[in-house]
Parts: sequence; structure tokens; C-alpha cells
Amino acid sequence: MSLTVVGSIAFDAVRTPFGERERMLGGSAVHFSLAAGFFTGVKVVGPVGDDFGEAEYDVLRKRGIDTSDIERVPGGDTFFWRGHYEYDLNVAHTDDTQLNVFGDFQPKLSDSSREAETLFLANIQPDLQFQVREQSQARLVGLDSMNLWIDTARDSLRRAIASVDIVLMNDAELRMLTEQPNLVRAAREVISLGPRMVVAKQGEYGAALFTADSFFALPGYPLEEVVDPTGAGDSFAGGFLGYLDSVADDELSDQELRRAMTYGSVLASFNVEQFGTERVQALTHGEINRRFEEFRLMTHLDTQPVELRSA
Ligand code: AMP
Repeated sequence: MSLTVVGSIAFDAVRTPFGERERMLGGSAVHFSLAAGFFTGVKVVGPVGDDFGEAEYDVLRKRGIDTSDIERVPGGDTFFWRGHYEYDLNVAHTDDTQLNVFGDFQPKLSDSSREAETLFLANIQPDLQFQVREQSQARLVGLDSMNLWIDTARDSLRRAIASVDIVLMNDAELRMLTEQPNLVRAAREVISLGPRMVVAKQGEYGAALFTADSFFALPGYPLEEVVDPTGAGDSFAGGFLGYLDSVADDELSDQELRRAMTYGSVLASFNVEQFGTERVQALTHGEINRRFEEFRLMTHLDTQPVELRSA
């Protein structure tokens, strides 16, 4: 039982209608790890610069995350992302992306990262994702991506997708990637490239799971206050894959996949309650268990159709 994640480790500047932060810990691999760490041993792989200090390492270590494969580049600056959201929090607008140490990043997995049973290729340049996938011996591999790479590296992204088991992407990005306005068809087309399943993340509306012959969906948790959606997708992926790694079952039963979808939804719903990683850092087992139970009750349907009236 172990999980390696490769992705961005970042400082984020974020503005939402409810406030802003000039510099906070972020990055796809960081959000993912903090969520997955509730379920399994996580190893983070990715570069950081001199500006990534003990306080940042501590956030990860406190959750028991293995940071020994974080590569510190002397003289470099950590990846930086600036973005904002309007009242429709489902759409992130990127204002600035500074790749910094990611510009020259050549991922090399250590023996223990290579041997992890589960691998998550969080959102980074798709050629890097593919290089990592080639080095890994994982039995279960997930991948996320974003509009930037669909625009600038579509063929590379399709090659990376063909090499994984599960694609977890936003619904709008799945449509954009496949140029297919219908989500069911878009998911089917992605599965035809090679993956066993697709998870379409739909922001506040929830998430849907497509396999070749089944479908399952959950609504978003009905939150009254959403402060910052940054990292929700990665927290979802962390809950989903972290749980699946902990059951270590190659077959992946429907029940396990549904539980994974629920843990993904639980972790994502907490993530958006405060800025950046603040809420997930403070999260307790009791809070996760209670929200899981709320999802169970909220979505339970154990009834039969009635006899309909004839004309
Ligand atoms: P999401 O789960 O999609 O909201 O992911 C948000 C995180 O993605 C932020 O913490 C950013 O640091 C990170 N991010 C934004 N743009 C990129 C990019 N081009 N490559 C890698 N990570 C990114």
C-alpha cells in the first residue's frame, strides 16, 4: 500500500469574490497529498526552489507525507501560479504561471517511488507525466490535466492518457480535449484511448464516474459558503485514489469505486471552505466520517416505481 504523486508544488496567489491571498502553499501535488494522506502512505515527487522552507515541508510532514523525493533546486524559485475566480466559482482564470524550477525538471523516480502500487500524475506538462509513467511499476495510475496543456500539448496529453488507468478531469476539459460537446460521448472517447475509467469533475455539481459498462454520479455537497475552489480537483483525486490504494484490489468492485467517489467528494467539499490548503490541513477523522455519512444518507434511494395512471 503506497502511493506516489508527481505534480506541481507551488506558491499560489488567489483572488475570489470572498477574499484574497498573495502567497500561499499550493500546487496540484500538495493538494492531492494532503487529501490522500488520510488513507495511505504518500510520497511526493516534484521540484522546489530555495524559497520553499521548513514551514512548507512541515505542512506535508504533519500529515505523514514522505517529502524525501522533493527535489530542491539551488538558486531556483518554486512554481508560482496566480489566478482568480468570479461569482461562478467553477471557472478558474489564470493570470500568471511561472514555471521556474519546473522549466528544467527531468523527473527521475527513486526506487521506492517507482515501486509504489499507485501513481497519480497530477497536473503538469504531459510529456513529464508520460516520462514518470514509463518509470513506474504502479498497478493503478491516475492522471489529471488542464486547458493549458490541451491547448499547447494535445498530442502529448493523448499519449499520456493512453498510458494510464483512470483519467480525472473537469467536465469542460474533457469536452475540450475530445471536441465532443456531450459528456457521455467525451468520456467514451477518452476510454477508447486506453484508460479503464474516467471521472468527470463537475465543480459544485459533483462528479461522475464512467467505465466501459457502468456509470455512477454524486452531487456536490450542498455547502452554504464556498471561499476558494483552488485545489478542489486535486483534493478529490487525493480522496479517490488514496482510498483505492488503501484497498489494494486490482478488480475494483462497484462498491469500492462508489466509496472512492464519496471520499473524493468529501475531501473536495472541505477543501473549498477556506483558502488554499487551510481547511484540509485542519481536518479531522471525525469530520470526514460525518460528511461521508451525510453523503450516504443524501444519495440513498431504496424505493420502487409506482403503478402509473392510465388515460
Ligand atoms: P485545481 O485542483 O485544478 O484547482 O488545481 C489548483 C492547483 O493547480 C493550484 O494550486 C496551482 O498551483 C496548480 N496549477 C495551476 N496551473 C498549473 C500548471 N500549469 N501546471 C501545474 N500546476 C498548476
